[in-house]
Amino acid sequence: MPRTRILATVGPATMSEERLKALVEAGANALRVNFSHGDEDQHRTILQRARKIGEELGRPVTTVADLQGPKYRIGALEPELRTLLPGETVELKGGAGPSEAPVIPVPVDGFLRILHQGQQVLVGDGAIELRVESVDATSARARVVHGGHISSHQGIYFPGAPFPKLSLGPKDLHDLRVAVEEGVDWVALSFVASAADLRAARAQVAALQPDRAPFLLAKIERAEALRNQVGILESADGIMVARGDLGIEVPLAHLALVQKELVTAARRAAKPCIVATQMLLSMVSSPRPTRAEATDVANAVLDGADCLMLSEETAVGQFPEESVRYLASIAEATEPALWGAGSGTFLGNEGDLVGSELQGEEGAVAEAAVRLAGRIGAKGIVVPTHSGRTARLVARLRPKAPLLVLSSQPSTSASLGLLWGVRARNVPSRLPLDSLRDAARTACIEALQLSRGDRVVLTAGYPLEGRPTNLLTVVEI
Ligand code: PEP
Repeated sequence: MPRTRILATVGPATMSEERLKALVEAGANALRVNFSHGDEDQHRTILQRARKIGEELGRPVTTVADLQGPKYRIGALEPELRTLLPGETVELKGGAGPSEAPVIPVPVDGFLRILHQGQQVLVGDGAIELRVESVDATSARARVVHGGHISSHQGIYFPGAPFPKLSLGPKDLHDLRVAVEEGVDWVALSFVASAADLRAARAQVAALQPDRAPFLLAKIERAEALRNQVGILESADGIMVARGDLGIEVPLAHLALVQKELVTAARRAAKPCIVATQMLLSMVSSPRPTRAEATDVANAVLDGADCLMLSEETAVGQFPEESVRYLASIAEATEPALWGAGSGTFLGNEGDLVGSELQGEEGAVAEAAVRLAGRIGAKGIVVPTHSGRTARLVARLRPKAPLLVLSSQPSTSASLGLLWGVRARNVPSRLPLDSLRDAARTACIEALQLSRGDRVVLTAGYPLEGRPTNLLTVVEI
C-alpha cells in the first residue's frame, strides 16, 4: 500500500455498489462526488454507499463533495455546434441564448465590466482563443485567434481578469445541504479567489451543521487564488491543485512549477494537498497509462503531494480499478526516493519548511519524533490527537516509519483521510497517559502488525484536548 492517498471521482462507471467497492478494494482511500454532474439522488446514493462500504471493509472511506462553484459557461448556441475560423470576429453578449452567429451569449452578470481591449478569452478546454478588440455597454467584439468547434454551455475563461466575488449560488447551496445531510467529510470549493471565500463558506457550512461541519478544501484554479495562496492556506483545511482549470488560467508552460510551489506551500502550512486532473487520462480508454502519465504521477509524489486524484479515469472510464491500481503502484514504487532525498528517515528538505509558522516548538517536537524514530529503528510513529494538528505536523515530514494516528474525535479521523501516510484509529478521549500507551500498543499490534519487543515513537499534544505538540516518548510493545 502506498503512503500517498488516492482520491477517486465516482461517476456512471463506478456508481453501483459493486464497482464502488471494487474501487476501494483496488486502493482508493477517498471518493469524490462531482456536483457539476449527476442529480441529487445520485449524489446521495454515492455518499451513502461510500459510508456503507467503509463499514463493511472496516476502514473509513473519506468522502469529498466537490461543488460546481461559479464556473463561467457560454449560453445556448443556435445551431448547437458552431465552427470558429481564425481571423473571424464574434460578439460576446450578455444572456442565455439561443443565439446565432456571430453572437456568443454569456449568461454572467457584469462580465463586460471585467473585459478590456486585448483581454484573452478561452472557450471549451482552452483550445479556442479569442482576443477582445472593443467593449461597449452591450457587447464585446473579439477576434478568433485559434479556431475550432464550440458548442452550447462550454466553459468560457477570461485568464487573469478579476472575477466577481465568489458566493455560493442557489445550486451550490442546495448541493452543500445535500452533502452535509449525508455526512460528507470534505467540501471542495471551486474557483475560490481569496481567504474571504473560505470564511464565507465556513460560516455557511457551520450554520448547516454546527456539530460536525465538513472540512474545506480550496481548489486552486484561478490566477487570483495563486496570488492569494498564503491567506487561502490559512483559512482552508487543505488545497487541491486543480490543474484542469488552472491550466487555462496560467500558461501551461508554468504549470509544473506552480504545482511544486503549491505542494510546498501546503507542506509548510501542514495541510493536505491534492494534485488533480489528467493524471492517467489515457486510461479512460486504454488499460495502460502513457510513459508521460506514469512520470507525471511519480513527479507529483516526489513534489510531496499528500494525495493524487483521478477524475474521468474512474468516473466515466473503461478501466477505473486498473487506474487506481496503476496510481497506487507508481506511488509505491516512487516513495522510497523521498527518504533517499532527505536524511534517510524523512523528506528532509527542511529548506522548504524554513520560515513556516509551524517551525516553532511544536514543529521541532514533531521533527524530533521523526528523527528519533529513524535513530532507534522504530517500527512506527504513533500520534494520539484530538484536532489532528500533531498528525499534520508529523505527516508533512513524510516519515519513513509508518504513521498511526489515534484520534479522540471521529471527525478528525475522517479529515486525515486525505493526509499522506496516515492510518487512523479512534480512541476514547481524556485517557490518562498510561492508558494511552496501552491503547498505542494494542493499535500497533492490530494496525501495524507489530510484535512484542518492537518499539514505536509516540508524540502528541498532551492532554489531547487543546494542547500543542509537547510530548515525545518511546513505547515498547
Ligand atoms: C480541475 O479543474 O482540475 C478540477 C479538478 O475541477 P473540475 O473537475 O471540477 O473541473
